[in-house]
Amino acid sequence: MNIDSIIAELGKVVSQADIKPDEPLSRHTSIKIGGPVEALVTPRSKEQLLEVCKTIRAFGREPIIIGNGSNILASDGRIASIAVKTHDGLSQVTFCDDTCFAESGMLLSRLAVNAQKKGLAGLEFVYGIPGTLGGAVFMNAGAYGAEMKDVVVETEVLGAGGQVRRITDHGFSYRRSVFIESGEIILGSKLKLTPDDPAAILDRMNELSARRKASQPLDVPSAGSAFKRPKEGFAAVLIDEAGLKGFSIGGAQVSEKHAGFIINKGGATCDDVLSLIEHIKKTVIRVFGIELEPEIRLIQ
Ligand SMILES: Cc1cc2nc3c(=O)[nH]c(=O)nc-3n(C[C@H](O)[C@H](O)[C@H](O)COP(=O)(O)OP(=O)(O)OC[C@H]3O[C@@H](n4cnc5c(N)ncnc54)[C@H](O)[C@@H]3O)c2cc1C
Repeated sequence: MNIDSIIAELGKVVSQADIKPDEPLSRHTSIKIGGPVEALVTPRSKEQLLEVCKTIRAFGREPIIIGNGSNILASDGRIASIAVKTHDGLSQVTFCDDTCFAESGMLLSRLAVNAQKKGLAGLEFVYGIPGTLGGAVFMNAGAYGAEMKDVVVETEVLGAGGQVRRITDHGFSYRRSVFIESGEIILGSKLKLTPDDPAAILDRMNELSARRKASQPLDVPSAGSAFKRPKEGFAAVLIDEAGLKGFSIGGAQVSEKHAGFIINKGGATCDDVLSLIEHIKKTVIRVFGIELEPEIRLIQ
């Protein structure tokens, strides 16, 4: 089906300004890589998101969902998909006692600050992770000993058949959730937090943020940790000890500051990053006999 027909229908759901034909994903990924999708749509409410997905599916297509693009590596050429971006449009949060319900496009750091101001602890670890709530639930994002599974109690999802339902069994494990297989679209989640002194929560957030700034290359484009933590230790330590710190292919480089990060030092392509990932995997297997598994999600 002609993309113009789909865009015309989408124009009845969202404003024209929220539909970007031929939009390069490099503008929407933290690693600044990615070719143009057929269109990128930014719904401004849950109702719009539901209608946008319904419209795309009515044409027999399945949208790709982007939160804030901070864990995505997209291919360089044309991507034959319509992307729906939740960040910016779906960012409402409501608090009730020690719980909150946040929409999937809400940025994690903003959510953490909102909770801190309400005197609710438990989200300190997400402060500084540059993703959305939906992306974090999808990935079971974690840091400094905590994971989304510790706070998420219920999630509202849109299924492939168009039904909206709430689920409590998220199938969370290390960097995994049930959504990776189910393909359901996360609309929002209910989080259970713990009452605490706002000043104490803020201290912990600032401390974790300082640790992040000291150890991670936050001033250059990347998609965060390129590899999951293997059972045998830390990917960054293995990569460093294999002598790969600073090693580059094209514009993609193993960060000098944190060997777990692959950075775009300028002009990196998706192929550069994939070649570097392969080189790292082969080297770490040769040196340590340990297989690394990429954490970055590939869109092609
Ligand atoms: C500098 C830096 C530091 C980072 N630090 C950490 C860290 O400490 N811990 C950590 O775990 N990660 C970290 N990350 C990785 C990343 O920020 C997290 O994985 C984050 O949760 C991804 O959220 P996102 O909104 O950017 O998701 P995206 O990158 O947009 O998407 C990731 C995946 O989730 C899917 N997805 C997104 N939203 C939805 C939705 N609403 N419904 C269904 N599927 C969806 C996408 O389709 C994609 O497959 C870091 C990244 C960077 C760049």
